[in-house]
Amino acid sequence: MYYESTRNNKLKKKFSEVLLDGLADDGGLYVPKKWPKVSKKELSKFQNMNYQQIAFHISKKFIENEINDRDLKKIITKSFKNFSKKNIANIKELESNEWLLELFYGPTLAFKDYALQVVGNLFEYVLKKEKKKITIIGATSGDTGSAAINACKNKSTMELFIFHPYKKVSNIQRRLMTTVKSNNIYNIAIKGNFDDCQKIVKRLFLDKKLKDKFHFSAINSINWARILFQLIYYFYSVSKINKKKKYTFSVPSGNFGNVYSGYIAKKIGLPIDKLIIATNENDVLSTFTNKGYIKLKSVKQTISPSMDIQLPSNLERFIYDLFSKNNNLVKDYIKKLYKNKRIFINKNKIKQIQIYFKSSKVDEKETLLAIKEFFIKKKIIIDPHTAVGISAKRNLEIKNKPTIYIATAHASKFPETINKVIKRKVPLPEKNKSLLKLKENYKIIDSSYNKIKNYLIQKSKFVKNV
Ligand SMILES: *Cc1c(COP(=O)(O)O)cnc(C)c1O
Repeated sequence: MYYESTRNNKLKKKFSEVLLDGLADDGGLYVPKKWPKVSKKELSKFQNMNYQQIAFHISKKFIENEINDRDLKKIITKSFKNFSKKNIANIKELESNEWLLELFYGPTLAFKDYALQVVGNLFEYVLKKEKKKITIIGATSGDTGSAAINACKNKSTMELFIFHPYKKVSNIQRRLMTTVKSNNIYNIAIKGNFDDCQKIVKRLFLDKKLKDKFHFSAINSINWARILFQLIYYFYSVSKINKKKKYTFSVPSGNFGNVYSGYIAKKIGLPIDKLIIATNENDVLSTFTNKGYIKLKSVKQTISPSMDIQLPSNLERFIYDLFSKNNNLVKDYIKKLYKNKRIFINKNKIKQIQIYFKSSKVDEKETLLAIKEFFIKKKIIIDPHTAVGISAKRNLEIKNKPTIYIATAHASKFPETINKVIKRKVPLPEKNKSLLKLKENYKIIDSSYNKIKNYLIQKSKFVKNV
């Protein structure tokens, strides 16, 4: 299996290169050259497999012989050791045709653990084999950071610099990052918003002066391996529910990573009807899906902070497909988006998008109401991101379609919001309780590229003096 870049379809890279690079040299994102298929027969076999076995089976199709079966199985087993549910991804039946897919049983209580735990171990495996050391840089709107830190802590082959927007992530989200004690982890709070953090990371990547000093790698959702390991819970949930139907997934979305994995799952053979892109008031993905335009505004801070994003980085992967792998069109489109802050596509393309996706924007009031109603009707406390997904489905008035709601975070990560609507405290799971007492460690820096670059050079243990 080889990979190419959304900006250069002549490129031919192996999985291990794609894993370590994160972003391609040309600024594009990696995608497989060909899509493997999952047959009906394979799908029926998944019914009797556990989460780890399905993960092996699917990921093997994209990794092939680069990692042998025994080692890949070991990596996967190890990656899910720290999950607090034996079945890893928990499915709750809500009504006869609706399910909640709970993806918050990993160490940092959000769905990002499901891919990042594996990615951390894949990194370690490949780096040891190739005798390399890497500097991972990543921006986080809240949950990626802690999941990445947990996946990379105490690993000798890597160091990790994580940028979060200062005072724009929840208290618990911040503590999940800043209380981890490990000498290869650096937390940086940037005085700006998430898009500022993401822009700085992109610029560090493309900075020619840093090319010889660092071996940079990315761990945010532009990394292909994350997209790959997010496919697993789509396959897992459909196989376990197994009603021989087509399913609609409602996916709380920000960077378009999770729902893009759903798109690939459908593409390679999973019976998915529609993928609902649920957005908060940062509604770029909604206007894109429903009306075919994107108009970038400044980021609005909401009660679902992990979705407070204006420039969804994975969208480029989908646009690449939409433009039939025409690199020049993709480059043009992205350039225009950056320059003019707006972009339009034609009616035919909108139709093409809607073959896969539906989308709805959910405001703050609706989000709060969804949390309240869910608690009253079902006695389940959902987090604000999950609430956006529930509300989006309702707005779209899709009736009688089997629907799986992805629950992306544990409600205890957002105690202020939950307490406000249902007047109840949601305690942290036992294993995370110590969080509230541990000492925090992070550096606050202005949103200045040079200041951040210098901090990196000063702190890095892997920086080369050239
Ligand atoms: C990251 C995150 C999202 C958004 O997922 P994307 O892959 O960025 O679209 C939604 N909910 C939670 C809790 C998250 O952590």
